[in-house]
Amino acid sequence: MRRKFIAGNWKLNKTVAESVALATELKDAIGEPSCDVAVAPTFLSLYSVAQALKGYPIAVAGQNTFWKASGAYTGQVSPQLLKDAGATWVIVGHSETRGRFGTPEEVDSPDALKVFGDTDASVNTKAKAALAAGLGVIIACGELLSERQAGRTDAVVSAQIEGALKGIPDGDAKSLVLAYEPVWAIGTGEVCAADEADRVCGVIRATVKRLYDDSTADAIRIQYGGSVKPDNAAELLSKPNIDGALVGGASLKAADFLAIVRAA
Ligand code: PEP
Repeated sequence: MRRKFIAGNWKLNKTVAESVALATELKDAIGEPSCDVAVAPTFLSLYSVAQALKGYPIAVAGQNTFWKASGAYTGQVSPQLLKDAGATWVIVGHSETRGRFGTPEEVDSPDALKVFGDTDASVNTKAKAALAAGLGVIIACGELLSERQAGRTDAVVSAQIEGALKGIPDGDAKSLVLAYEPVWAIGTGEVCAADEADRVCGVIRATVKRLYDDSTADAIRIQYGGSVKPDNAAELLSKPNIDGALVGGASLKAADFLAIVRAA
């Protein structure tokens, strides 16, 4: 039986003080959840949030990482520094770090895609570095609306997973969390129908089985992400292949996030 895992991705939101205030609201009300819970604040707030949550059943995650431990890499943050600041998880390959946005008008500069430059290969390098540093890793994947409309959803998602998992041994693979996040459902209010989300999570599990074996496919947890809200969480989380949620917008309000945790 896979334990469900609800993770909140705070993205580029909240000052340090606001982040600590939200963490405090969460820890005061979380009780003893029957699922794993994590929040991913900005890098700047991560240490303060980790301090605030010490001793509570809410882990802290980085929203991204670089793959080198240290050196002349201006602007980067390593898995080791994330751990040092109190993170135990990291998200890699989020569609926004790949430059694949649900609302394309978000890319408001001609050079924006060079900034959000993750590829399957960089996601793979980041995942390996994070695992080697001892972090839990959430690897996100998902198709654009245009890819879905062209009937390419399964091929796109399988290729992203295959690229991200390249060279990761099965012992490590079992500990990974994969997040299916259809890009067109992220931050758009458009949720993927629960049966379809479950079907694509099943395609991801079958890909893991093809790359590894039955026991790895059975152990690995697969989250759904994309406009998860208190009113749709229970249905999504009741599906056999959906082992949790990666939550953006609704994780910024304690009451909404906690309602999703309770639905799990
Ligand atoms: C996300 O950022 O991973 C996400 C799913 O965002 P939202 O819940 O806002 O769609």
